[in-house]
Amino acid sequence: MADGAPQGLRYPWPEPPEHGTAVEVAEGVLWFRLPLPMKLDHVNIYALDDGDSWTVIDTGLDNGKTRRLWQEMMAGPLGGKPVGRVIVTHHHPDHIGLAGWFQSEFGAEVVTTRTAWLMARMLVLDVQETPLPETLAFYRSAGMDPELYQKRAGERPFNFADIVASIPLGYTRIQQGQTIRIGGRTWDIHMGNGHAPEHATFWSRDDNLVLSGDQILSSISPNVGVHATEPMADPIGEWLEACARLEPLARPDHLVLGGHKLPFTGLPTRMRQLIDNHHGALKRLLEYIDTPKSATECYAPLFKRKIGEGEYGLAMVEAFAHLSHLHQTGLATRTLRDDGAWVFQKA
Ligand SMILES: [Zn+2]
Repeated sequence: MADGAPQGLRYPWPEPPEHGTAVEVAEGVLWFRLPLPMKLDHVNIYALDDGDSWTVIDTGLDNGKTRRLWQEMMAGPLGGKPVGRVIVTHHHPDHIGLAGWFQSEFGAEVVTTRTAWLMARMLVLDVQETPLPETLAFYRSAGMDPELYQKRAGERPFNFADIVASIPLGYTRIQQGQTIRIGGRTWDIHMGNGHAPEHATFWSRDDNLVLSGDQILSSISPNVGVHATEPMADPIGEWLEACARLEPLARPDHLVLGGHKLPFTGLPTRMRQLIDNHHGALKRLLEYIDTPKSATECYAPLFKRKIGEGEYGLAMVEAFAHLSHLHQTGLATRTLRDDGAWVFQKA
C-alpha cells in the first residue's frame, strides 16, 4: 500500500454530471450519466479520447430517450469526433444496450468478453411472449409470493430485446491477463464474476484509473443472483473468488470509475467491505435458517429493510443465491416443499 493516501472512501465529485453534459475526471476521460427507468435510475458512461476518435465504456440501455441523449453528447461534449470503439464491461442491458446500434449506425468496433457477447446476443434473439415453464418453475422453487406469481404467469415477460438494440455479428474479444490501449494509457484486463459472468475490469498501468463496471461500486453492492437459465449456479462463490483475486490489485489512490453511483478513491477499504458484506450476510442467514426456509422467506436477515414489489425479483434471486451457496458449500441442506419451493436448513 502506498503511504499517505486516504484509507477510507472519498468522492472527488460529490455531484454527478447533468444528462448530456460531461465531467472530465482525468486527462481525456469524460464521465457521463444516462437515465434508467428503474429504482437504480442511472448508469455511468465514460468516453476516452483516442486522438481521432473516442472509445466509449458501456452505452446505457436502448430507448428513444437514451439515443437522443447520445446524439446530444456526440454533438456536444464529444465535439463531433466519432465513437470508434465501444467497450462493454458485461452483458446487462444498461451496459450493452446500444452497442449494436453504435456498430450498425456508426461502424464502431465492439469490444467485450466472449461470455458477455454470447449471453447478450442469445438473450436479444430469445423473445418470449409468455413466461417459459422453466421460468415459472424457478419462481416456484424460490418461493415467490402466490399472488405475484399468478400476475407474472399471466403477463408478457420482460424481454432483453425490449431495451437492447439488435447485435450484429462480429466483435473483438478481450480475455483475462491481456492489456489494451485506451485513451493514451495501457490497461491490464482482469475478469470479475458473480454479478455477471466474465465481467471485464480495466486497470491503468500509466496512472491511477480503474474502469470497474458493476464489479466494484462505491455505495451499493452489486446484485448477485441465480436465474432460471442456470438454477445450480453459485454466483456468490464466483463473486468471492473474483474479489479475492482483485483485492491485491487495489491501491488507496486508485480512482475507481464504476457503472453506477460516484467515482471514488479508497479501493482497498471498499474491496474489504464488499467481501465482508457477503460473509456477514451468509452468517446472518445461516443463523436464520435453523428451521427450513425458502428464498423469499429470507429477506429480513439479508436486506434488513422492507422489500417492495419493484425490488422483489432482484431480492429473490439474491436470496436464492446466498442460500444456494450455503447449500453447495455443505453448510445447509435443501428439500423440496409441497408448493415446489426449495427450503434450506442449517446442516
Ligand atoms: Zn449496471
